[in-house]
Amino acid sequence: MTSPLFSRRQWLLSAGYASLGIATGSTAETINSEVIDTEPYPSNANEALVRLKNGNQRFMDEQPRHTHEKSSWRSLLVESQKPFATVVGCSDSRVPPELIFDVGFGDLFTIRLAGNIIAEDVIGSLQYAVAHLHTQLIVVMGHEGCGAVAATIEEMLHKTKEPKHIESLIKSIKPGLKKLDLKLEHDTLMHAAVEANVRWSIRELLALPEAKLAVQEKRITLIGAVYELNTGRVRFLD
Ligand SMILES: [Zn+2]
Repeated sequence: MTSPLFSRRQWLLSAGYASLGIATGSTAETINSEVIDTEPYPSNANEALVRLKNGNQRFMDEQPRHTHEKSSWRSLLVESQKPFATVVGCSDSRVPPELIFDVGFGDLFTIRLAGNIIAEDVIGSLQYAVAHLHTQLIVVMGHEGCGAVAATIEEMLHKTKEPKHIESLIKSIKPGLKKLDLKLEHDTLMHAAVEANVRWSIRELLALPEAKLAVQEKRITLIGAVYELNTGRVRFLD
């Protein structure tokens, strides 16, 4: 279904990104070039991925555009949304997807839980993103130095115990780390564990028949990624 907003955005895009005056409801509003996309709306998952990569490069280069933040843009989103990608990430304060990918309001559907785990409600949110928002790209993004992964490693190494609900997080993460060599040096082990946790989350999603079918039929692309705290780079996994 094409929303009125999407039509309007498409029209704005086709108008060549120039400064335009448009009517929104009964109020004439001037939309200047600062709030109009400088990149066309991605038509498929590959284009969406390129857009994320380009945004992450700007972020790393410290040349973010910070588009899609002003009230004039936000007003276009009041009626509906059409995010071009979905990100399943960690709640960690150091990994906000919108900043990392240099995007703004309405661009990403984000689901964040400590350790980027695939809990039942995460699946519900993803189903909403696919069924209602027609997301074509889902990125599961872990990050170096993840506390939830570190707590899981700690428990595996030293049988430490966390409070009950943190234990629940650890229980979700642990199966994905069982093949790791726990004798590895700590930083190497953490690096491997973060990536293994992302791959585990993807495996859990692909264990869902609907998700598996959507990927097989190429209705969605599911990809893993790890954000590096030091460099700001998002490393997409094969
Ligand atoms: Zn984390």
